[in-house]
Amino acid sequence: MGPTNVALVKLFQADQQLRAAQAELDAASKNVRVQKRRVDDLTERHRLAQSTLMENKSQANNVELDLKTRDEHIEKLRSQQQNAKNNKEYQTFLIEINTEKVDKSKIEDELMKYMEQVETGQKEVADLSTQLQVEQAKLTTMQQESGAKLAGLQEEIDALRVPRDEAYNAVPAKARDMFERLAERHEGEALSAISKPDRRREEYICSACNMDLVIDVYNKLHSRDELVFCPNCRRILYIPEDLPPEAAVHKKKPVKAKKIPDSEIGAAAPRQQSAVDVLNSLQPDSPDEASESSDVPESSDSTAHSSPQN
Ligand SMILES: [Zn+2]
Repeated sequence: MGPTNVALVKLFQADQQLRAAQAELDAASKNVRVQKRRVDDLTERHRLAQSTLMENKSQANNVELDLKTRDEHIEKLRSQQQNAKNNKEYQTFLIEINTEKVDKSKIEDELMKYMEQVETGQKEVADLSTQLQVEQAKLTTMQQESGAKLAGLQEEIDALRVPRDEAYNAVPAKARDMFERLAERHEGEALSAISKPDRRREEYICSACNMDLVIDVYNKLHSRDELVFCPNCRRILYIPEDLPPEAAVHKKKPVKAKKIPDSEIGAAAPRQQSAVDVLNSLQPDSPDEASESSDVPESSDSTAHSSPQN
């Protein structure tokens, strides 16, 4: 493969390692994060219950005060009643006292209601406070226990970030942008190895989505430095290490090697039609120059490519 694709594969591998370490840290810290959320929720509920309790207490106090004032008023009316000058005045005080008593009874009910609410609220606050203490203690233990492990994983991530960034900087800018876009779309899997499912047949598929690929995909990747995309999932294709030309080629029907067109010389490696050509071109005594040119046009592009770097 050309330098751009080699750099991309290096970036891909370093990036996958970094992502795996990050995922491990996320998984390891998940329990702590869940517990932290539980403690935060309880803290909030405790705060709200406490504030409601304070409100109800203050309301109860106000009603109690009101009741006291009314009691005093009734006492006053009673003493006035005792000193009534005549029966009519006496009856007037009586009516006023009775009205006050009815009002007082309503307020007593109200006070009752507030007292009950205060009692419920106090119990709730106490319960939440106990729960909070238990969960907070659990969180502290979890943080202590996982602290060393999480720190270790974080260290690993920091260490992996260095080669990843180096590999990133080694990729030409255009290809790098493409890598980033695809990595975002495919959760890091910007690249896909081509795979040859049947050893005896020269057929390739995208190992990520299993799409059949055009037969000359191997040559394109092997001999040229351009990005080749899977026509289905659009991932950048690459040749995996376990698929060298020796393995990619099936040797039953040796094909005559093609001549290198002049236009290709000095540019990229020769345009070869199949992996057989790649193999032939690698053999020391390849009759490349001797054979007559039968340059086959590139297979129609179901694979898109962009030129590597300008
Ligand atoms: Zn694909």
